[in-house]
Amino acid sequence: MAMNLFDLTGKVAIVTGSSKGIGRAMAEAMAEHGAKVVITSRKADICDEVAAGINASGGEAIAVPCNVSRQDERDNLLATTRETWGRIDILILNAAVNPWHGSALDIPDSAFDKTMEVNIKCNMAFCRAVIPEMQERKDGAIMIVSSVGGLRGSTVLGAYCISKAADMQIVRNLAVEFGKDNIRVNCIAPGLVKTNFARVLYEDPETAARKSAATPMRRLGEGEDLAGIAVYLASKAGAWTTGQTFCIDGGVTIAGND
Ligand code: NAP
Repeated sequence: MAMNLFDLTGKVAIVTGSSKGIGRAMAEAMAEHGAKVVITSRKADICDEVAAGINASGGEAIAVPCNVSRQDERDNLLATTRETWGRIDILILNAAVNPWHGSALDIPDSAFDKTMEVNIKCNMAFCRAVIPEMQERKDGAIMIVSSVGGLRGSTVLGAYCISKAADMQIVRNLAVEFGKDNIRVNCIAPGLVKTNFARVLYEDPETAARKSAATPMRRLGEGEDLAGIAVYLASKAGAWTTGQTFCIDGGVTIAGND
């Protein structure tokens, strides 16, 4: 029988911010490929609903609420996963914040600090907490959901883009340090995806049309468009892929001005 390169049977995956949007699409796809998934975000009731949907369609999921900016809640998320399934093979750090839209001259220190704390420091904290068990097993896949914004300058999303560029460097550092332990660490950088998070960037129909026209594939993204890369990076298919940033963006970052 041919080996399925994308099979995740027996693997345990945590996806932060998986009650909605991109994280939810990734978690559901990994469950469809056989992984046991932990659905987690700040709101317990939505996590319960998403986990119940996965279980009802033959997958395996639990819901564990966690605000990623709180250490006690991060500890509880990891401990509950280990108590339930004994291991963490796949960690997708997808939850992020963007509390400020506007000039770099006006951003309050508190908004700048919050962006760096959640989008950089909490991701590092999660990585530090799971890498030792991955080292012991000589196997693990970590992904950070960054953004194409981390590759470009912005007049209105500056601090957010700084934090997303830092995520790309985190994966390079960790990939170099822990490659010898067969731990793969990569970034996924979406273009504009139609989720609640990005609503302000596409809700005006004229803006949405302009952004679609600037995208080679002539449409904005859906959460499901990001699911395949997560399955690839989590599975045997991605066994020799590490330290990279994958732009999943309908081609927007490679389009010229002609
Ligand atoms: P979304 O649909 O609004 O979903 C965000 C998810 O994160 C929800 O499950 C939310 O649930 C959870 N969340 C928010 N703050 C959290 C916190 N402090 N702790 C734990 N969970 C939290 O957003 P999305 O567009 O899928 O965004 C996911 C990732 O994609 C983010 O890293 C974002 O920067 C990145 N991204 C998005 C786009 C885009 O165009 N949409 C483009 C590039 C990159 P609760 O409210 O229940 O906590």
